[in-house]
Amino acid sequence: MKIKITTKELKSDFAKEVKERSGIDVKKCYQCGKCTAGCPVAYEMDYMPNQIIRFVQLGLRHEALTSRTIWLCASCITCSTRCPKEVKIAELMDVLREMALEEGVANPKEKNITTFHKAFLNSVKKHGRISEFWMLSEYKRKRPKTALQDIEIGPQLMLKGKLSLTPHDIKGKKSIKRIFEKFK
Ligand code: SF4
Ligand code: SF4
Repeated sequence: MKIKITTKELKSDFAKEVKERSGIDVKKCYQCGKCTAGCPVAYEMDYMPNQIIRFVQLGLRHEALTSRTIWLCASCITCSTRCPKEVKIAELMDVLREMALEEGVANPKEKNITTFHKAFLNSVKKHGRISEFWMLSEYKRKRPKTALQDIEIGPQLMLKGKLSLTPHDIKGKKSIKRIFEKFK
């Protein structure tokens, strides 16, 4: 796919902004492709992980933030461990996800994933850890079409004590809440 790059984009501070937010210097990447070669979900992505890094290097904000790739990334960290230049690609994906949500440009095709992402973080913010039942309740309430998906395994998980109706808050949950507030 051909992408036009404007002078404005080339001169933009996108890479600098990403570095300020995450400490990740994308300029270190020399496009060897090792990250992409090891990525277990690359076959589903619209752009390969090294292409996402290229977008950031070139100031292509729209392409990076609206990509499906940043949501399909499973944060497995294979890419980060393979990178000869120690570029933290998995963490970069996370920063791009947050920027996409802040700017309201997250790819609409990945609505299920973005909703799950928010429900996951809301649970951590509220309880200091994941409360599977309440996290899934929020997710399924916001994505009603998924309400009956996997419904048959719910009772089995409950019987095995893997899905508790009562959230188990951690002791330091106020500290977790403060971290969320600080890095909002
Ligand atoms: S492995 Fe590292 S240097 Fe190679 S393309 Fe990926 S990010 Fe760039
Ligand atoms: S962290 Fe994401 S981009 Fe990196 S290898 Fe895993 S799934 Fe692929």
